[in-house]
Amino acid sequence: MQVELLYHTPDPERAIATAARLCYAPVGASELMETMPEERVKSVLSTIMSSGHFSTLEHASYTFAVDGVSRALTHQLVRHRIASFNQQSQRYVKFTNGLATVKPESIAADEETNAVFDEAIEAAIAAYEKLLAAGVPAEDARYLLPNAAETKIVITMNVRELLHFFSLRCCNRAQWEIRDMAHRMLELALPTAPFIFMDAGAPCIRGNCPEGKMTCGNPYPRVKRD
Ligand SMILES: Cc1cc2nc3c(=O)[nH]c(=O)nc-3n(C[C@H](O)[C@H](O)[C@H](O)COP(=O)(O)OP(=O)(O)OC[C@H]3O[C@@H](n4cnc5c(N)ncnc54)[C@H](O)[C@@H]3O)c2cc1C
Repeated sequence: MQVELLYHTPDPERAIATAARLCYAPVGASELMETMPEERVKSVLSTIMSSGHFSTLEHASYTFAVDGVSRALTHQLVRHRIASFNQQSQRYVKFTNGLATVKPESIAADEETNAVFDEAIEAAIAAYEKLLAAGVPAEDARYLLPNAAETKIVITMNVRELLHFFSLRCCNRAQWEIRDMAHRMLELALPTAPFIFMDAGAPCIRGNCPEGKMTCGNPYPRVKRD
């Protein structure tokens, strides 16, 4: 899996603090953006996070490029509706030189399960190639491609959605592959806006686990973030 932060709103913390301050300031946003002292930016952000004035977080956004993840992952990812996605198409891209796949460790760890997986993938790809050779369009032949098929996706989320996404998907209850991706995204976002992302991640980093009976019982490692 490769996760890259392609770009983000310049100075996201200042952009968000400016939007929040504008509500109560006699001057305009461009003046606030330029003149607000750094300590004021921090105090405004602190108020936003404690008061729940979260619409202000929508004024900064992040775009990530993710390669080498499974279609099983992206199926879960695209359930996040307040985000934008573009994904490599299985209609327009034909996998004629073999199909890269993601193999879960629980399968790869054992010789027998490994062989079952490899045989099934090879059979699916062989059948897919036969259909293509017979003139079946790629958009139909792809019905044979597995959830394990590797894919590439571009993701854009505003900060409000990103924090929500980290809350759900950095949690130990999330499936391992999307959890791995969420942690990598958080590692990339954190240095760009340390104040905003300081407490991002599973809910147990901020307080009690909300999962009830479904709790993993193993709180998120509390990383000290400065
Ligand atoms: C551990 C885990 C297990 C899961 N298991 C399943 C499962 O078994 N089956 C399954 O189908 N899904 C499952 N999901 C997916 C889950 O149900 C959500 O679809 C997914 O996590 C997106 O969350 P969301 O709707 O909060 O986020 P987003 O779509 O990113 O939305 C963000 C927030 O915007 C608001 N919002 C968005 N759209 C609306 C709307 N139409 N109306 C009102 N408010 C809205 C909500 O406050 C929402 O929380 C699972 C997710 C997790 C993390």
